[in-house]
Amino acid sequence: MATQDIFGRPLQDLRISVTDRCNFRCVYCMPKEIFGSHYPFLARRELLTFEEITRLTRVFAGLGVRKLRITGGEPLVRKDLPELIEMLANIDGIEDITLTTNASLLPQHAQALVDAGLNRVTVSLDAIDDDVFKAVNDVNWPVGPVLEGIEAASEAGLNPVKVNMVVKRGMNEGQIVPMAEYFRKTPHILRYIEFMDVGNSNGWRLDDVVTAAQIRDAIDAVWPIEPLEPNYTGEVASRYRYTDGAGEIGIISSVSEPFCSTCTRARLASQGQLFTCLFAGRGFDLRTPLRDDSVDDEQLAEIIRGVWRQREDRYSEQRTSETAPLQWKVEMSHVGG
Ligand code: SAM
Ligand code: SF4
Ligand code: SF4
Repeated sequence: MATQDIFGRPLQDLRISVTDRCNFRCVYCMPKEIFGSHYPFLARRELLTFEEITRLTRVFAGLGVRKLRITGGEPLVRKDLPELIEMLANIDGIEDITLTTNASLLPQHAQALVDAGLNRVTVSLDAIDDDVFKAVNDVNWPVGPVLEGIEAASEAGLNPVKVNMVVKRGMNEGQIVPMAEYFRKTPHILRYIEFMDVGNSNGWRLDDVVTAAQIRDAIDAVWPIEPLEPNYTGEVASRYRYTDGAGEIGIISSVSEPFCSTCTRARLASQGQLFTCLFAGRGFDLRTPLRDDSVDDEQLAEIIRGVWRQREDRYSEQRTSETAPLQWKVEMSHVGG
């Protein structure tokens, strides 16, 4: 049986950040003023190697992990990523591998990723209008190549492609309906995400959050939608279908309707720290025991089991309450979304 935390939540999913670097500077994630040329990104030797990630993942699989999500930073800026996917796909017990990407490098890599064993892809796209998108990614990257990345993934067999749009007031809420219009009647599933207070650099304020209810109403006013049953317990997105049969959308209400009680996700940062919550202040160093020749896999398993058994994170449920922990939090680009 999978290892359980203090609230009985099993360890089932592992998000692996393969790099803290990115070719975008999305204003809500890696603002240029902070993540500039002097930012202390990790050196190569600090990153876990593919062999180290694979060994750790095998240990996690032994503890109950079945699903992996590869993320970052931008995972496709890590060289030879398909090699890692292939190594992970061969681990006993791993049933599903997903990649989260900004899709800028997806057209040239989609087929190799699928051949290596990738099962699914989530593409982040925060606007369908070029000017809005360029202002969000802050590196002048146009929408066209991202759409090409989505099509490349689809042609390579990664269907349906999920498209994630973070909605932030004053940034792109005017794109809620145009994005719906673009992705209606396509096989891809658009998912809207409430802007979260991850890390310390994105200047988050509750007023900037466009809530799930507001997003739902904005779409429903143009094309009526109705709720769908979740695909499985613990699914983070609430599903809706267009009543005219034009497909489905998802809304992820991490702020207004948190889902900590079903959170089965562990996160492995690129230099080998284990985080038990997206909003954690500190991670548990797994790289030191991993690089210590005297520590075997069973001992690694014991360390991870010990961390998970003590897990009591439920930050999103506490965020707006008086008990909310006021703390330094890890950056999204560091731990992976
Ligand atoms: N670079 C890849 C990408 O953008 O898909 C993977 C890493 S990125 C950190 C993962 C996801 O986190 C993206 O969909 C991004 O939009 C989302 N994200 C980053 N900061 C966020 C925030 N403050 N609130 C909500 N989502 C956020
Ligand atoms: Fe890079 Fe993804 Fe963060 Fe944008 S959201 S800056 S693409 S890591
Ligand atoms: Fe999981 Fe932490 Fe997010 Fe709650 S706040 S859903 S515990 S990652």
